[in-house]
Amino acid sequence: MGSQNNISGSSFDGVAITDELGRFEFGNDSFFEIIGLQGEELIGKCFMEVIPEDMRDILERRKQTGTDIPYETKIMARDGEEKNLYISCVQTEINGTKKYVIIIKDISEQKKLELHLKESEARYRELFENADDVMYTFDSKGFFQTINNAGLKALGATRDEIIGSHGSKWIAPDSMKIANERFMKLISGVSIDEMAIYEIVCKNGEHKWAELRTRPIKEGTKITGIHGIARDITEKKRLEEQLKEYHEMLKKSYEELKESESRYRDLFENADDPMFTLDSMNCFVDLNYAGLKVLACSKEEVIGTHISKWLTPDSFEIAQIGIKKRLFGDTIEPPSILELLCKNGKHRWVEIRSRVLKDGGKITGIHGIARDITEKKRLEQQLKEYHEKLEKSYEKLKEADRLKTEFISNITHELLTPLTSIKGFAELLNDETIGKINDEQKKSLDIILRNSDRLIQLIKELIDAAYFEQNKFKLKFGMVSINNVISRSLQDMHPQANEKRITIIQGIKPLPEIWADEEKIIQVLSNLLSNAIKFTPQNGMISVTTVDDTSQVKISITDTGIGIPPDKLSRIFDRFYQIDGSASRRYGGMGIGLSICKSIIEGHYGSIWAESNGNGSTFNVTLPKLMKKKRRIKGHDEKS
Ligand code: ADP
Repeated sequence: MGSQNNISGSSFDGVAITDELGRFEFGNDSFFEIIGLQGEELIGKCFMEVIPEDMRDILERRKQTGTDIPYETKIMARDGEEKNLYISCVQTEINGTKKYVIIIKDISEQKKLELHLKESEARYRELFENADDVMYTFDSKGFFQTINNAGLKALGATRDEIIGSHGSKWIAPDSMKIANERFMKLISGVSIDEMAIYEIVCKNGEHKWAELRTRPIKEGTKITGIHGIARDITEKKRLEEQLKEYHEMLKKSYEELKESESRYRDLFENADDPMFTLDSMNCFVDLNYAGLKVLACSKEEVIGTHISKWLTPDSFEIAQIGIKKRLFGDTIEPPSILELLCKNGKHRWVEIRSRVLKDGGKITGIHGIARDITEKKRLEQQLKEYHEKLEKSYEKLKEADRLKTEFISNITHELLTPLTSIKGFAELLNDETIGKINDEQKKSLDIILRNSDRLIQLIKELIDAAYFEQNKFKLKFGMVSINNVISRSLQDMHPQANEKRITIIQGIKPLPEIWADEEKIIQVLSNLLSNAIKFTPQNGMISVTTVDDTSQVKISITDTGIGIPPDKLSRIFDRFYQIDGSASRRYGGMGIGLSICKSIIEGHYGSIWAESNGNGSTFNVTLPKLMKKKRRIKGHDEKS
């Protein structure tokens, strides 16, 4: 009685035949083997008594149901082994006698497998349901068949809401194209190894990112659906996005930094003034074009070299002191002026402003801006020389002027003595004190007298000028009536005016007395009137007016003469100045009258100025109405 296992591992069917009462008639080897009996044990015995208890109702059951539907039962075989049996009892007739054919199949092995499968299925279900990743299946049309808890959580929906819905419902439009393509490929049997990334739309409208791996589900050769595993990479994507943004930002700020660096570099390189950077050992780290131009060398020749190479020993010492001060934090140190030794052997001067460079708290070097002041220095030097020269020539000039004044002062006195004698004797002759003279002789004597008068007048003016210049003149102050002074001056000038038939108009109001030197004021007014007459043509007009102000009196003399150009109005008060040099020949005079007038008026704390509109001139004199007590004029005597 051998047994044979089929592919599934279960034994061949056991078959036994009993009579109507259940008495054993036949049993094959498999039957005995399954129920654990020896064939001999059944002989003479009722089958039903011998077979395991669980099988005993087999005939009863058959009789009751009247069907031969097979059923499963568990038996304890005689050898003590528990077995699962698949039992079927068929009623039949053999040779006109009722018989029962009992067929059993040991399905213990199958049962075990089933159990195992069940357990395994449960385990896999467990794994499926509680996996961290989303797992799902689609049918061949793309409708959800299953989805695990992670999937429900990810989509934020219930199983009922998902199962039976189409996959496209949960995919964002942007990902639809790639999802469709992938689905079509899978469903047509093309396997896809690479993962896909879809944008998912959750139930609440939120968008998430999922990374998917999908494969077709096959039943035999037929593809019945798709199985997918997805992972929520929203956070990863967000981080990626953030990283990207951060990267972009970094890139941008790097670009900006680069641009700004190049801008600053450009500013540095193309600055008009030399700019440099030194390291902490005072060696050049950088020097811009302007600096290279000053030193007349190339960048390679200067970078890395010590500053001492480019400075005169004196300047190097100054630079060292300056750098030391900088390092000790003296930021208000004035710029150092240093003498450079250029490559071409020339010396140049620069003014340097510098500051320390720090990295954290550590001093890493010095940055400086220099200004080439060689030209300025040269000009300064030149200016100094000019100044010295000027000073020397001014001194010489002053000396010459002093000598000239002294000479004039001496010579005038020398001239005046003989001239006075000439005039005296001429007068004696003219008065016929010495003897009778004829008309011809009288005429000649008149000419001599007139000219000696003019000469004496000129010499007196020269003496005055020298006096005023040497500040030797003295004013004799007293209370003076301006009205008197004006009339006396006019009186003096009458003959001259008459000679040229010039009309003198007076607009003079009574004026108060002022504190002044009467003779000198008369000298001033006479001089102004004399000029007015001199520069006014025949039949002209001169007016004399006065204004009595609160603090001063003003006397104005206006003529209808040749006028004074505007740019000469102030210069005419300079000594020896005449607008037209040839005028002295035409009009006489030496150009000193007005300068004397100015000295006298200023000695009275008054002022004198000329105005001209091109049609005659006006000379104005103001004199302060000073009270005697207030008057304090240094160096001037008071008339007691
Ligand atoms: P002088 O008359 O002896 O040359 P002044 O010092 O009195 O010297 O005058 C200086 C110059 O000012 C004159 O030479 C003349 O050119 C100019 N000047 C003075 N008074 C008048 C005037 N009333 N009209 C035009 N020019 C005048």
